[in-house]
Amino acid sequence: MRKIETQCVQAGWEPKNGEPRILPIYQSTTYKYDSADQIAKIFDLEEDGHTYSRMSNPTVAGLEERVCALEGGVAALCTGSGQSANFLSVFNIASCGDNFIAFTSIYGGSVNMFVMTFRRMGIEARFVTPGMSDEEIEAKIDDRTRCVFGEMIANPALNVFDVERYAALAHRHSIPLIIDNTFATPILARPFEYGADIVVHSMTKYMDGSSQVLGGAIVDSGNFDWAASGKFPEMTEPDESYHGVVYTRDFGKKAYITKARVQLMRDIGPVLSPAAAYTLYIGIDSLAVRMERHSENAMKVARFLEGQEKVESVNFPLLESSDQYALAQKYLKKGSCGVVSFVVKGGREKAMRFMNALDMIDIVVHVADARTSILHPASTTHRQLTDQQLLDAGIEPGMVRLSVGIENIDDIIADLKQAFDRI
Ligand SMILES: *Cc1c(COP(=O)(O)O)cnc(C)c1O
Repeated sequence: MRKIETQCVQAGWEPKNGEPRILPIYQSTTYKYDSADQIAKIFDLEEDGHTYSRMSNPTVAGLEERVCALEGGVAALCTGSGQSANFLSVFNIASCGDNFIAFTSIYGGSVNMFVMTFRRMGIEARFVTPGMSDEEIEAKIDDRTRCVFGEMIANPALNVFDVERYAALAHRHSIPLIIDNTFATPILARPFEYGADIVVHSMTKYMDGSSQVLGGAIVDSGNFDWAASGKFPEMTEPDESYHGVVYTRDFGKKAYITKARVQLMRDIGPVLSPAAAYTLYIGIDSLAVRMERHSENAMKVARFLEGQEKVESVNFPLLESSDQYALAQKYLKKGSCGVVSFVVKGGREKAMRFMNALDMIDIVVHVADARTSILHPASTTHRQLTDQQLLDAGIEPGMVRLSVGIENIDDIIADLKQAFDRI
């Protein structure tokens, strides 16, 4: 197997003799066939091929192969956003009356979807915290619990997920572990190597890298045995909506992704467009080198902030002072991405003033971009959360989330320094 830096530029689109070297943008919803017979075979899933771009498209397929290779999975499905990837990843295996376990320290948009939107469908998210014992978490699992969902590096609390521990916990109950690996990316963290079953991404973040398009991905390790579990009839019994296909029987290790594609993408349709897939594909070319620089710059910024008297606390998993340090050393050997959060002394108001005093660093509702940017979670991304949900997600009112970019570190620190001097 090739190394990950190589996969970033080599995996995916493989041109045949005389074909374009770079993944083409196939801006077509439709595909042409020589005979009616042939298209029938593709519809029956007997042969590979594209029928309609809601289900698959060659440009999107190139990206799917690339993301799949990076995570070391067996199959991937790309979606129009990270949110739709998260949604489909759970909805693919949970129906009305089911429940699932989710960690509180996940992206605010995911909390909202899990609590509110899933509830409307009769699916209950049961929240747990990393501080709980295995026994306390397992007490929430019953025979209708369908998965455990966590975030590799939590946005924005920056908790590092103990993949090995929670994979073992999930597997004791014959349910899969789903990890949102958005912040760490496959460059910095390898959830499958520690027992995670499914990985989801908001590709909108580091994979794009330049804040151009939204996109999401679901990657399956192929390791979870749906049939042996006995808890997933939708995977192991005939799908009436697809003339009796049995996903585990007919698609083996690709059962989960095939079901998500031919059933949920078909019915719900949160597709990634070919143009966006192309942009993300090219973004990934530089992912490995960018992640190294993001991580290195963030480490230096975290150390600078630690020495600042106007800063109350700094949260960066790879600081020795962090309560996440041991987990970070285990799971994030190559770095902890560009995100550093810190609490400005003086609470919400001082934090706002600090942000306004920045010159180069932009205030944006985004993270994980090549350009250093800053955000105040309590008043933006996590605005819909109650104070208790904010605290559960590890967010204090004076906390700002800095997304350290790939500029020269001297310019980043100079900007932070002049802003501290002015408040
Ligand atoms: C941004 C984000 C999402 C949502 O992704 P979109 O592409 O914005 O829909 C999900 N999970 C995490 C960890 C994120 O940072």
